[in-house]
Amino acid sequence: MRCLVTGCAGFIGSHLAEKLVQSGFEVMGIDSFTDYYDRRIKEANVQGLLKSGKFTLVREDLLNMDLDKVLERVEYIFHHAAQPGVIASWGEHFESYSQNNILATQRLLESARKISLKSFIFASSSSVYGNCELPMREDRLVSPISPYGVSKLACENLCYSYWKNFGVPIISLRYFTVYGSRQRPDMAFHKFIRAILKGKEITIYGDGNQTRDFTYIDDAVNSNILAIEKSCSGEIFNIGGGSYISVNGAIKLLEEIIEKRARIIYKEKRKGEMEATWADIGKAKKMLGYNPRFNLKEGLFKEIEWIKGIMDK
Ligand code: NAD
Repeated sequence: MRCLVTGCAGFIGSHLAEKLVQSGFEVMGIDSFTDYYDRRIKEANVQGLLKSGKFTLVREDLLNMDLDKVLERVEYIFHHAAQPGVIASWGEHFESYSQNNILATQRLLESARKISLKSFIFASSSSVYGNCELPMREDRLVSPISPYGVSKLACENLCYSYWKNFGVPIISLRYFTVYGSRQRPDMAFHKFIRAILKGKEITIYGDGNQTRDFTYIDDAVNSNILAIEKSCSGEIFNIGGGSYISVNGAIKLLEEIIEKRARIIYKEKRKGEMEATWADIGKAKKMLGYNPRFNLKEGLFKEIEWIKGIMDK
């Protein structure tokens, strides 16, 4: 069975591609190694994969490559390529979000509609919700409050249109803040852990009482496998970690695990950041059999160990 993982050199995509290879799939990965963060990190993310005879890396850009050609023989698409990051999505940077998220997704869908696929998984985000009623449920009205969230919602809606009109077997997974090894260097836990280990200051934007539902990488990856096993095209699922905690609470937990105090400075809240995220995962539990296996303490312990291992490299 042949899969395509877009964004295969990124944080989630590289873990997913590894899991698929281990599960016996033949995997083709596409990544353009964008410079949103250090490309050497992305190169390191694919090192293990490149040793496998079941993995092929295509270093191309979804925006201009011949997708019809690469999609021949593909049965499953896991579309994880994107321009991530909420704060960076304002101003002139939005061009990158509209290109790498909206336009790239539309190009991929155009090619996907010409072939017979078993599943097309789209990596969506809790950012589509905005400040809505908690816990967040898939049937609630979504009102993103950042350009990034708007771009991910546009992608979800495009996916829905291609499912409705052409039967592309879309499933959208709305990830809630994923963490663990290879977490992007712009993400909060990555920055916090490095700062605590090095005795440097942590900046919190706002009073730290904003809450987040954190999802361990293995659980996020597993949700993709569950999604292709079930036939639920056209559906959207929240993929959360099963609990939520304030940013201050999460830092306390980090201090406890690392056994070192954090030096925190508080700054004004930034535009686009949500007050709270909290996933109602009832639908994913019921329809996919999704059940997050890692609690925050276990998951953070693993991320800390990973960061210690790469810190001075
Ligand atoms: P990431 O930046 O580590 O990975 C994305 C990859 O896509 C990068 O390697 C980048 O080079 C590649 N890419 C971007 N544009 C491309 C293009 N035009 N052509 C080919 N490759 C391209 O990000 P991540 O954190 O692994 O996120 C993966 C997906 O999950 C994204 O779609 C993101 O929106 C979504 N998501 C992530 C989180 C999270 O907590 N990390 C939460 C919600 C949703």
